[in-house]
Amino acid sequence: AAPQEQRAAVTETHCPYCALQCGMGLASGGVGLRVVERPEFPVNRGALCGKGRTAAEVLRAGVRLSAPLVRGADGVLREAGWDEALDRVAAGLSGVQARFGRDAAGVFGGGGLTNEKAYLLGKFARIALRTKNIDYNGRFCMSSAAAAHRKAFGIDRGLPFPLADVAGTGCAIVVGSNLADTMPPALRYLTELRDNGGSLVVVDPRRTRTAEQATLHLQPVPGTDLALALGLLHLVIAGGYVDEEFVAARTSGFEAARAAAMAHWPELVERITGVPVPSMRRAVELFAGAASGMVLTARGPEQQSKGTDTVGAWINLCLATGKAGRRYSGYGCLTGQGNGQGGREHGQKADQLPGYRSLVDPADRAHVAGVWGVDPEELPGPGLSAYELLDALGSEVRGLLVMGSNPVVSAPRAAHVTERLESLDFLAVCDVVLSETALLADVVLPSAQWAEETGTTTNLEGRVILRQAAVKPPPGVRTDLETLHGLAARLGRPAGFPVEPEAVFAELRAATAGAQADYAGISYERIRREDGVFWPCPAEDHAGTPRLFLDRFATPDGRARFAEVAHRPAAELPDAEYPLYLTTGRVLAQYQSGAQTRRVAELNRAAPGPFVEVHPLLARRLGVAEGDALAVTSRRGRAVAPARVTEAIRPDTVFMPFHWGGEGRANSLTNPALDPTSRMPEFKVCAVRVERAEAE
Ligand code: SF4
Repeated sequence: AAPQEQRAAVTETHCPYCALQCGMGLASGGVGLRVVERPEFPVNRGALCGKGRTAAEVLRAGVRLSAPLVRGADGVLREAGWDEALDRVAAGLSGVQARFGRDAAGVFGGGGLTNEKAYLLGKFARIALRTKNIDYNGRFCMSSAAAAHRKAFGIDRGLPFPLADVAGTGCAIVVGSNLADTMPPALRYLTELRDNGGSLVVVDPRRTRTAEQATLHLQPVPGTDLALALGLLHLVIAGGYVDEEFVAARTSGFEAARAAAMAHWPELVERITGVPVPSMRRAVELFAGAASGMVLTARGPEQQSKGTDTVGAWINLCLATGKAGRRYSGYGCLTGQGNGQGGREHGQKADQLPGYRSLVDPADRAHVAGVWGVDPEELPGPGLSAYELLDALGSEVRGLLVMGSNPVVSAPRAAHVTERLESLDFLAVCDVVLSETALLADVVLPSAQWAEETGTTTNLEGRVILRQAAVKPPPGVRTDLETLHGLAARLGRPAGFPVEPEAVFAELRAATAGAQADYAGISYERIRREDGVFWPCPAEDHAGTPRLFLDRFATPDGRARFAEVAHRPAAELPDAEYPLYLTTGRVLAQYQSGAQTRRVAELNRAAPGPFVEVHPLLARRLGVAEGDALAVTSRRGRAVAPARVTEAIRPDTVFMPFHWGGEGRANSLTNPALDPTSRMPEFKVCAVRVERAEAE
């Protein structure tokens, strides 16, 4: 074909997986779709990890669902037509509401849903089902960072600056993020930072591939990074590194933060964290001594029962040193899920309406009710947070619609969550594959995938981007917007649930107009033309806002607020019965609950199953060698997986990736102790016992 024809056959879109939302092309022709590079997209500049490169594999027939499934009287799932399946879902959800009240129907969404789906799902819950009980798996992802962001800066946007700014900072402290494995194309910004003469401090209980790039690696005991941040702030104050001018002009609450930090002596912090005082001093010299600096957090500090305070303590470090609200400086959260940012902005959270509008503020309720054409009185109030919702299944909540989530694998205390799902009167799941959660459902609705439907996502920078459809969904599969339209009509709302993504986006723009996450000026056409638009963008002639806070923070008085925090231990600590820490995370070749990536041969070859990382000292004590089957037991369950012996982990800690179900399910072990503000469960630290698995 001529070059022009080749170009015409490529659809510009984005990866369906993580929050980097790498730009990619989908080339059609030959055997199905093929992922090709899109070097001009500024975030990943053409680079893709193995997950992105193989993303088209999941589009193939045989891997995915191709027709609705309903559970027959014999207990077996069988194929059904769409009318029968949608009738069953509408009857199942309205049936539990008739028997137990409106809030007995719940909705569980996902951080991978497009903005349009997240928006319409929230609207569906609140005005079609009229239940207060909607939340989503993003609660398990970055909700503590979101809460800390709002407390400190008055607004929640993962990165308040473009990712490329990282390369220009003097020192980056990366806390609890292994982006070399989770979002590899982003690693280049850290490499460029080093090339530019900047330094990199990585805080992680594991010596990850990201930590290997660091100028300095601090390896604290899991769940103690709040104490570490306080110890660093102590040294900042004692060393005369406080930017008094910045603190006076642009912040509030420093005195309380100073008092808390001064109570955390470095020697005390060393005892709590295991990080030697000289290493702490070196970190302070690198960070506070640099002309600019950033702190970037991910799930490590966030997935704790004190995650909001932990992130707040790291933000304090930025504020005290004047490293916020300036170019190349600031705090940012490296969001995990594909639409982790947009997914939390548009109303699938238990406590928010679209645009981050409040569910309890009368003016916010009136605005959204006006866009939806309902009386504000009709809108329910805040509902249960994600784990609390799952825990209430079978009691307070009797029917559930799950869209784009696989809590059987991804929720904490997963065996209990599975029991709760099994106890439901009715369960419906919309997904692209027959996930572990879909296997429990009464009705499974097959969803169209990223390459088969157009929609926007918002990446970790707050850049709203467009995934464009490259092909039509196969027969038997519908888009989630079509599913919501069909269900809403059956629940008495024939209007107000458009199936065209651009029509939903137009409504979303109106619903968010004037709000913090203001999309009013963003259109599909602009996104195509500009390679994404940063919110807030209140008008079509507004350029968008790549960098927040340069003039003022988004608090009422324009000042950033120090958090008043003190060290407290994790909810569960090792003891005689459970003497080790467990921490969990991701590996390079799998994504989240693995529902999609475990169906890709190349990725399975690279990461075929779960494992337990143990330090050689611990392995010797246990008398185990590489590959031996280990049983890991916590107060909530047991998991079995082969040992991987490595010096990358602390001797008092074991690590398991959480991508798999079955006997190697890491989340059988994890602790659902919740952060009081964000309601984030403590995935990152619990106490376990490890022993050789007895042969069955
Ligand atoms: Fe990029 Fe993330 Fe997709 Fe990998 S998984 S290609 S890093 S968006």
